[in-house]
Amino acid sequence: MDSPLLVGAHVSAAGGVANAPLNAKKIGASAFALFTKNQRRWQAAALSTEQIDAFQLNCQQGGYTADAILPHDSYLINLGHPAKEQLSRSREAFIDEMQRCEQLGLTLLNFHPGSHLRQIDVDECLGKISESINMALDQTHQVCAVIENTAGQGSNLGHSFEQLAQIIEKVEDKSRIGVCIDTCHMFAAGYDLTSTEATQASFAEFDRIVGYQYLKGMHLNDSKTPLGSRVDRHHSLGAGYIGKAAFEVIMALPAVRGIPLILETIEPEIWPQEINWLRSLAKG
Ligand SMILES: [Zn+2]
Ligand SMILES: [Zn+2]
Repeated sequence: MDSPLLVGAHVSAAGGVANAPLNAKKIGASAFALFTKNQRRWQAAALSTEQIDAFQLNCQQGGYTADAILPHDSYLINLGHPAKEQLSRSREAFIDEMQRCEQLGLTLLNFHPGSHLRQIDVDECLGKISESINMALDQTHQVCAVIENTAGQGSNLGHSFEQLAQIIEKVEDKSRIGVCIDTCHMFAAGYDLTSTEATQASFAEFDRIVGYQYLKGMHLNDSKTPLGSRVDRHHSLGAGYIGKAAFEVIMALPAVRGIPLILETIEPEIWPQEINWLRSLAKG
């Protein structure tokens, strides 16, 4: 039997995490992403028992199991930071993010791998990222660390499948490491998604170098910037340089079943239509 199709968007958790499943329900989503704290700040108040209970109740009533929820960590965290002090700060913040997920009963945490800031070389930075993940996995129990591929903007690493594979290789517990492929980032990083054939070839390359067994989520976005631009600018599905063909290929992949497929597109007003369109592709 096919695993279910879990399609949704990165919804607002303004006013408290318990609002995220409610916001997801309003757009007809069967999956969602959220920030469990303000993504632009280091500090956050601990989650209260009331907040946790309300979140879990709303998830249960909305039919969202942990498989369908892909929390995203703070933008400030750099797990490959070249400077010792900032690296420790990032590692502590990342562990805190993982613990918040555990408190909420969640099993995935999506994060951007890190940046070398032109101060250390790529291999050293990737090594620090793997080490950071190992430290976080050691101190937590149930959350899988889900690395997001990047557009390769600035000195951000994780834009090539080889770099993702290199990070995974040095992670000790392979059962708690995965990747989230963002289509906009993938395209901006140089993987062609402009036709059926090109998309099939790009995903075959992903499977060969990283492997579908590590695919734990996807961000489905079109791109405002061209192939290989290394610039991260999302667009609504079909409205950007990627176009519609790629999403038809992706929705037919067996590997996308049972994992959260999350829109981070720029017009939340049309999320319900985008979700319906993606679902219609999977049925075909
Ligand atoms: Zn993304
Ligand atoms: Zn992005």
